[in-house]
Amino acid sequence: MKSFEALGLSKGLVESVQQIGFEIPTPIQEKAIPILLKGNRDFVGLAQTGTGKTAAFGLPLLELIDADSRNTQALVLAPTRELGLQITSDLENFTEKFKPFNIVAVYGGSSISEQIRKVKRGAQIIVATPGRLIDLIDRKAINLSTIQYVVLDEADEMLNMGFKEDLDKILSFTPDTKSTWLFSATMPREVKSIMKNYMSDPYELTVGEQNTGNVNIEHHYVMVQEKDKYLALKRILDDNPEIFGLIFCRTRIDTQRIAEMLMKDGYNADALHGDLTQQQRDRVMLKFRNRSLQILVATDVAARGIDVEDISHVIHMNMPDEMEFYTHRSGRTARAGKKGISIAMISRRELGRVKQLEKTLKSPFKRMMVPTGPQVCQKQLIALMHKVREVKVNEEEIGEFLPAVYEELKDLTKQELIKRFASIEFNRFLDYYRNAPDLNLDDRKASDSDGDRYVTGSRFFINLGKMDGLDAGSMLSFIEDVSGVNRKSIGKMELKGAYSFFEVEKDKADLLLSEFKGGVEFKGRQVRVEMTERRNSGPRKESSSRDFKRGRTSGSTFKGSKTTEQKRRRY
Ligand code: AMP
Repeated sequence: MKSFEALGLSKGLVESVQQIGFEIPTPIQEKAIPILLKGNRDFVGLAQTGTGKTAAFGLPLLELIDADSRNTQALVLAPTRELGLQITSDLENFTEKFKPFNIVAVYGGSSISEQIRKVKRGAQIIVATPGRLIDLIDRKAINLSTIQYVVLDEADEMLNMGFKEDLDKILSFTPDTKSTWLFSATMPREVKSIMKNYMSDPYELTVGEQNTGNVNIEHHYVMVQEKDKYLALKRILDDNPEIFGLIFCRTRIDTQRIAEMLMKDGYNADALHGDLTQQQRDRVMLKFRNRSLQILVATDVAARGIDVEDISHVIHMNMPDEMEFYTHRSGRTARAGKKGISIAMISRRELGRVKQLEKTLKSPFKRMMVPTGPQVCQKQLIALMHKVREVKVNEEEIGEFLPAVYEELKDLTKQELIKRFASIEFNRFLDYYRNAPDLNLDDRKASDSDGDRYVTGSRFFINLGKMDGLDAGSMLSFIEDVSGVNRKSIGKMELKGAYSFFEVEKDKADLLLSEFKGGVEFKGRQVRVEMTERRNSGPRKESSSRDFKRGRTSGSTFKGSKTTEQKRRRY
């Protein structure tokens, strides 16, 4: 095992990292630093997050950059503001005992003029998120012609988030002579295409096993009816009283709804999604980071780059649209060599995706049974007793109150006392779980008898139809995107010329109406949705509702990516 000095780094850099507490290089640092220090070759590093990538590229970068020149010589691109800020702060720490550098972070959600001012003062290194950098390029506020090094950090996440076009544009503004260093946890087709288009004969380095998930993650799934997922979630939370968990939902509205339901039901939960302001997001993240928040419910995009230690469980309310997302989601647990549990809540229809993932990740998924009422009660009771045993008694202050307490309880035996203390907290669980049904689906039943399918519901009129260029798939995506009502809850659809009808499960009707109320426009036209009577005209045509319930329509303009995270009611 080599020391940082032996890798060829200057004394000042070595002293800086030692000051931070890095004693010996991590495997990726040991392998990448000597190669990158040569400064003349494109580089691809395939490594999970949390392996020490930042120092692996940051230290050579600082070594290679001319601190006496004010030209912008290096550009580091990261998928999220949070990761960008983390990289900037790491780079600044690495220079502490080295040379003074001007490192500027450029990211959305903060004053652009302030960032332009800092860039103009002469930033030798710019750390940017792609979207904001494009803004600066468009405003001609940044000169990328002197760039010698481009680092693409978490390239797979940037591409997953829909930054492909932005990356193409940014790279086209950098000189051909630059070296490109790309880091990615996975190697999907899109990353390979960036390598093919923008890199020549890169040095490829794999740390750990390619395309396998983190071996410290136990992958589980529970199989329940779609309508029971929230109940199953509560049981899992109740069965893990010490949980520090991240719950993923597919849409912003589901995220908010689940978080609100949990809060209402007494859990210490909050939501993180793109409809929140930057300040709101920062506040939630701060609470989660310092563990005053126990459960964070998040969308894929909002949770990207989250690097919070000791997350014990990642729970997926449904399987993500993209398989890569599963790796990103579950990779939020089991960081820094710790163990973690990932639980996918699936309906029977999603079982195929689990099997597919098992193959991709080369990791078995164990079916976990949703705990029964008595099991949860048992767990809670033990946790309560554990608390009793562990509670710190303030001998001095409680002392003077005790005689009265002893007097009050003097007739009760030890057993009687224990029973009563336990019941104070415990009755709530007993009441709740008294008649709790088994939520697990029997995996031998035929798939269409599992109740996942939409049955019948309220009927709605919408003033959009074929004349608006919509077909059943795009209409479904539109309704789902605006209302947050999952497509599985949307049923029979009749598309007419200028208007259409569709059905929605009864308990989702209010949500749907409220989300459509006011302010939703489609191609400049105000969208109107009203509940309507069911026609009594014999058997209706089934239309294609069954087909489009299977999954998102490919090529839909409403598909989640960057845009679904932005608050917009115009379509
Ligand atoms: P990164 O993958 O760069 O985000 O690093 C993951 C974590 O490992 C961060 O908390 C770093 O501060 C830490 N780290 C990186 N390199 C080392 C090292 N050589 N020794 C100890 N900790 C490190």
